[in-house]
Amino acid sequence: MKTKLCLICKKVPVEKKAPYWPFCSERCKLIDLGKWASGQYAIAGEEIKKESEEEDDAVKPPHS
Ligand SMILES: [Zn+2]
Repeated sequence: MKTKLCLICKKVPVEKKAPYWPFCSERCKLIDLGKWASGQYAIAGEEIKKESEEEDDAVKPPHS
């Protein structure tokens, strides 16, 4: 039978047939959803950073 450690707490082995696979419990599943919602998996992070760098450049005083 294949088991895997819970993706959130990384301590509890979860069976592949478990109801909340790949998480050990509903709680860990909800924590994972919360991470997505709060942007901890920063997929768009690079783009946002690039934009702020451009803004920073525009705010610079003109070179004299
Ligand atoms: Zn867990």
